[in-house]
Amino acid sequence: MKAVVVRAFGAPEVLKIEDAADPVAGAGQVVVAVKAVGVNPVETYIRSGSYARKPALPYTPGGDAGGVVEAVGAGVTGVKPGDRVWTSGSLSGTYAERALCREADVHPLPARVSFAQGAALGVPFMTAYHALLQVGRARKGETVLVHGASGGVGIASIQLAKGAGCTVLGTAGTEAGRKLATAQGAHQVLDHGAAGFREAVMAATNGRGVDLILEMLANVNLGKDLELLAPRGRVAVIGSRGCVEVNPRDLMAREASIHGVMLGMTGDEDRAAIQAALAIGLENGTLVPVIGREIPLAQAPAAHEAVMAPGHLGKIVLIP
Ligand code: NAP
Repeated sequence: MKAVVVRAFGAPEVLKIEDAADPVAGAGQVVVAVKAVGVNPVETYIRSGSYARKPALPYTPGGDAGGVVEAVGAGVTGVKPGDRVWTSGSLSGTYAERALCREADVHPLPARVSFAQGAALGVPFMTAYHALLQVGRARKGETVLVHGASGGVGIASIQLAKGAGCTVLGTAGTEAGRKLATAQGAHQVLDHGAAGFREAVMAATNGRGVDLILEMLANVNLGKDLELLAPRGRVAVIGSRGCVEVNPRDLMAREASIHGVMLGMTGDEDRAAIQAALAIGLENGTLVPVIGREIPLAQAPAAHEAVMAPGHLGKIVLIP
């Protein structure tokens, strides 16, 4: 099979397509024929060598995919060959024509959801659910600000927060991004770079502030986020690419709190709860991943450039 292989950490060009051995399903494992691969920012951090957790070289990136079960190992009962599935992790890497996965990371993909949409579920929707409900503890009637609403996690966050009965504010840096977030159901979408942003959030909440902020770029926004919070408001930090200064008095004045979010910290129990909730939303059509761009697998370097470029919309997927 063809697979993207990284033999040295570095620039996007280290993602090379090669011939690789087909994976074989051992006990409790599933081989998935990959039809679409989800590209996430974390895969660029790992590829560059700057991420805390580094795989042994050489490796094939990726854990998110949509595809069809090709083979199952002994003891696998949840899926069978021919089933349409999405994956939330892979032992061999999903940037390939076939991926070896634990049974626990392979989930049924409803007929109404495309393979590309299936590839957009793992990291983005699971992170959004974990941040919104398990860490951020959003409650019906609260106001949630999705700070970075036009990307993979942001769109998932809007859909999930609406489903949870929250009022949803969003931000994006481009007009197209704001239109997309609005189309996903956000009640109001603001420009995160605009002068008067703080005043616009306060006006949108009748001066009260927001109950929960899902933050995609904390190193830029966290200090100002604290001024946007309602009493006992929370910030769930999903993304950050550097350091930031905060004024603890902004926390004290509101008895507010800042929470870190790390999908990789979730155990199988939390993950199963997330996946069960996502299955309902996919089945009833309230969760609809948005695909911004499809790129051939051999052009994985271009996908890594694109996912880090400002202003891209929705999910970038690779097609083997
Ligand atoms: P993405 O698809 O690239 O989306 C990035 C989003 O951030 C876009 O909506 C972008 O909007 C927005 N953004 C850019 N500059 C911003 C600013 N100054 N203020 C607010 N938003 C801004 O990435 P993603 O997959 O949604 O992931 C988002 C972040 O979360 C990434 O940093 C990723 O590494 C991280 N993440 C963390 C976890 C975890 O477990 N902690 C899991 C998944 C993702 P515009 O381009 O329109 O400006």
